[in-house]
Amino acid sequence: MSKRILIVGAGFYGSVLARELTDAGCSCKLIERREQIGGNCFTRYNEEADCHQHVYGPHIFHTNSEEVWRYLTRFTKFNNFVNRPKSMSAGKLYSLPINLMTLYQVYGVNTPEEAKATIEKVRIPCDSPNNLEDWCLSQVGPEIYELLIKGYTMKQWRRDPKELPASIIKRLPIRFNFDDNYFRDRYQGIPEEGYTKIFERMLEGIDVELGVDFLADRDEWIRRFDHVVFTGPIDAFFNYTEGTLEYRSLRFESEILDTPDFQGNALINYGETQVPYTRIAEHKHFDLSYSKDKTLITREYSQEWQEGMERYYPVGTQENLDTLRRYQLLAKEAGLPVTFGGRLGQYKYFDMHQVIAAALTKAKRFLQDGFEVSDEEEN
Ligand code: UDP
Repeated sequence: MSKRILIVGAGFYGSVLARELTDAGCSCKLIERREQIGGNCFTRYNEEADCHQHVYGPHIFHTNSEEVWRYLTRFTKFNNFVNRPKSMSAGKLYSLPINLMTLYQVYGVNTPEEAKATIEKVRIPCDSPNNLEDWCLSQVGPEIYELLIKGYTMKQWRRDPKELPASIIKRLPIRFNFDDNYFRDRYQGIPEEGYTKIFERMLEGIDVELGVDFLADRDEWIRRFDHVVFTGPIDAFFNYTEGTLEYRSLRFESEILDTPDFQGNALINYGETQVPYTRIAEHKHFDLSYSKDKTLITREYSQEWQEGMERYYPVGTQENLDTLRRYQLLAKEAGLPVTFGGRLGQYKYFDMHQVIAAALTKAKRFLQDGFEVSDEEEN
């Protein structure tokens, strides 16, 4: 008899596994707490503004992986959107990520050589720049740090940048040329029909039930299946016995404006703390759709996660990583037929392409080695 697998959560991790395991002959059921599929990638078409609204924040797909790109293009066509965000600070706009145009705007330098010489003069060298502030000061100096990074980071994380790991910002390049493509991955774009369509196609023919709270009936669900893939928060799964994992949550304020183009770009960040939101997204630019005289914008505010809010960013402090470790040990000791996956299940700051790659790898492992393999190696 084919294995009966329960997948909890209809984001990328759960949906890719559901597709792969079903295609390999497993009998999969997927349940989702929300009334819709797609996790935080969920988009909804907005007729008034003629564009897809990124309901849980802007999602720009990018990857260097041929395998991930080939996989996803089975379910959608991508447009050729390229992310070139700007930052507003002290009444002026700056180019992002920090590149020669930014250095021209701040210091008036015109060439890579001039820019390098200026940065060499202003940077504050540091032997081991472990925290975010020391790392930025050692790379770009105080002026750019204050204008573009300090305020944004304090709003985003509500923590002193000295207490944050440098890894958060090391994702962002500093370039001495005019390349302002935020992600330099080989493949990039926004799904032409919105993200939700990808999930609809991916889950075709699979038994999906929405509005179901797995945790309310956890043991009964586990009993009824051979294996469970849980993509919700690992601390909630264990009823918070080892402590609560911290997250940053987001609050969105959306409005439709009577203008064809509000800010001329998909994303404008706000680098200073005087402005309470971190950025404004103008959704029609993601779709490259400019037909309507109206536009939909969303102001994004970062806030500490509390019960009842949606979780967005894991906060990678040592304390949280220690708590995570205790849950992973608990999961191992409990010996339950449950795999924890995705951003919430693994408490990892995954991007979409990384989640898809992780789910594809996991599906292969399940199919080759069986469902009893431990999660250990991947955490
Ligand atoms: N960041 C910043 N200023 C910006 C954009 C980003 O200081 O205008 C910093 C901030 O600390 C942020 C980190 O860089 O948390 C990573 O930014 P990214 O845009 O990669 O974050 P995400 O898109 O995941 O929110």
